[in-house]
Amino acid sequence: MSLFDLSGRVAVVTGGNGGIGLGMARGLAEAGAAIAVAGRNMRKSEAAAAELAKLGVKTAVIALDVTSEASCRSMIEDTVKRLGRLDILINNAGINIRKPPQELALAEWRQVIDVNLSSVFVCSHAAYPVMKAAGGGKIINIGSMLSIFGAAFAPAYGASKGGVVQLTKSMAVAWAKDNIQVNAVLPGWIDTELTKKAREEVSGLNSLVLMRTPAKRWGLPSDMAGVAAFLASKASDFVTGTSIPVDGGYSVQV
Ligand code: NDP
Repeated sequence: MSLFDLSGRVAVVTGGNGGIGLGMARGLAEAGAAIAVAGRNMRKSEAAAAELAKLGVKTAVIALDVTSEASCRSMIEDTVKRLGRLDILINNAGINIRKPPQELALAEWRQVIDVNLSSVFVCSHAAYPVMKAAGGGKIINIGSMLSIFGAAFAPAYGASKGGVVQLTKSMAVAWAKDNIQVNAVLPGWIDTELTKKAREEVSGLNSLVLMRTPAKRWGLPSDMAGVAAFLASKASDFVTGTSIPVDGGYSVQV
């Protein structure tokens, strides 16, 4: 079996129906994994699953609202029921509410923290016993450049993504003995629905990104496929607790 082969493996991707989640799901499917696409928008999820099925893998569509603990728990149960097992969890679902700290309401703060951070805890908590019983697993959490840097328009988002990196470390340390590797990916600026909205809301963002990114381009969801396949495969069995930037050099430029 090749180092990166995922045949016989099963992955569930929260927010796997578009953007970075779908880019990562494609990477796993190309390596042979069956994919459960989990999201709120069933039309988007059905279309994403149909696209992944063309790569010759089994797929399932699962309705998920990551702000509901029950929904996260049934996503894990449904994945096992429908695809037979669970080896890989990608905690990707995320939102942003772009306001400076003084304008952000507590309810908005809570919403962003719930979707981006608490969901990572709940979904991983639900996946842990299943992975432990199977003898191991891979959890991939999605951070951000705002796990590292600050932005005036993203107080809750930055706090949530900083939290994702720290939660990743705690889970990695706790579950290493169970052969479960937990890592985070920190995407740079990737062209998706989320950043399309950001470009509309934050003036000058497009030129700032192009100027500040050494690769001189926005990333694409397809740029996230390789890191997902690596972190999901046995090639990364001794890699745990780390956060890998996939950012065209953004985070190493002064
Ligand atoms: P998209 O807006 O394209 O994707 C967000 C995904 O999250 C959607 O699939 C959406 O599913 C899902 N989602 C949102 N809220 C919920 C919810 N309550 N329950 C279940 N699913 C939900 O954006 P991206 O692909 O850009 O973002 C994906 C991740 O990557 C996020 O965590 C984001 O913070 C992170 N990220 C993105 C960067 C970028 O430049 N694009 C940079 C750094 C990090 P549905 O449509 O069904 O609601």
